[in-house]
Amino acid sequence: MNSVQYILGIESTAHTFGCGIASSEGRILSNIKSEYVPTSGGIHPREASQHHASKAAATISGALEEAGLRLSDIAAVAFSAGPGLGPCLRTGATVARTLSLVRKCPLVPVNHCIAHIEIGRLATGEDDPLVVYVSGGNTIISAYAGGKYRVFGETLDIALGNCLDTFARHLGLSHPGVPKLEQLADEGRRFIPLPYVVKGQDVSYSGLLTMASRLAGECDRSDLSLSLLEVAYGMVAEVAERAIAHTEKSALLLTGGVARSKRLQRALSFVCSDHSARFHVVPPDLAGDNGGMIAWTGYLALKEGLTVPVESSYVNPNWRLDEVEVPWRR
Ligand code: AMP
Ligand code: MG
Repeated sequence: MNSVQYILGIESTAHTFGCGIASSEGRILSNIKSEYVPTSGGIHPREASQHHASKAAATISGALEEAGLRLSDIAAVAFSAGPGLGPCLRTGATVARTLSLVRKCPLVPVNHCIAHIEIGRLATGEDDPLVVYVSGGNTIISAYAGGKYRVFGETLDIALGNCLDTFARHLGLSHPGVPKLEQLADEGRRFIPLPYVVKGQDVSYSGLLTMASRLAGECDRSDLSLSLLEVAYGMVAEVAERAIAHTEKSALLLTGGVARSKRLQRALSFVCSDHSARFHVVPPDLAGDNGGMIAWTGYLALKEGLTVPVESSYVNPNWRLDEVEVPWRR
């Protein structure tokens, strides 16, 4: 008898509807996503949720097909239960509940932030890193201690990716903004002082965004992009450095959508070499929001019996990662 289990994961916290399939051996067999891109401005939660509802069936069929599996081969269905945008989370949860009812298999709620950490641990093989998780909606420095992922620093207002994407839109650049700002920054020559806000172990990006946007008409775009990135990444690097000194972890893992930034990778690799720590970056195809990371984390939770009855499978838009017990790390 084949004892390998296959878990299907649904991601729908924000702009991405994703479906991925992970095996109990730690292979991601497929990872299909469909991204909602607003015609103008930031993410409109209702429009994003409508996008997810309309793409769900094709995304799930695609993931099953690519994995060479049928729904009857799936042992459990995992879904992102938070944090995220309410309408988007509810759409993903509805899809996951339906699959679990049809398949008559367990339903596993997964914390989205923890999934970004677990996929990084799986992909890099680094067991116990300090984690720098940076994306469109989250900026968190975290490490495992005493049964949970603890927060050693986070943003007090908007996320790093949100700050940079909003500024990029201000310059008229299309989504995703961060890689375009990085290209501009490569041409930058002059550093323009901007608000660098670190409070204890936390960072704040809203003042930085306001100031950079205000200067957009007056200053050279490349200089401004260079300065914004240097300040924004410098803030993350500062708190990550103190966190690695304090926790004495011997490795750092960079994960989340903005982990693809070469400039941020460089800043954090300097921190690591100063502290004799190994530096790892999640692979680019697993950096942004995806269903594969939900499937894999769902498997880790399933092993611990962390399933939920459909009747009480609520989503939680404000679900913090440090509320979650992670018994698979014990
Ligand atoms: P996520 O919310 O995890 O899917 O990540 C989305 C964020 O990743 C957005 O802020 C994007 O601008 C950013 N992003 C997308 N592509 C890249 C890239 N190549 N380098 C750096 N950041 C990126
Ligand atoms: Mg994310």
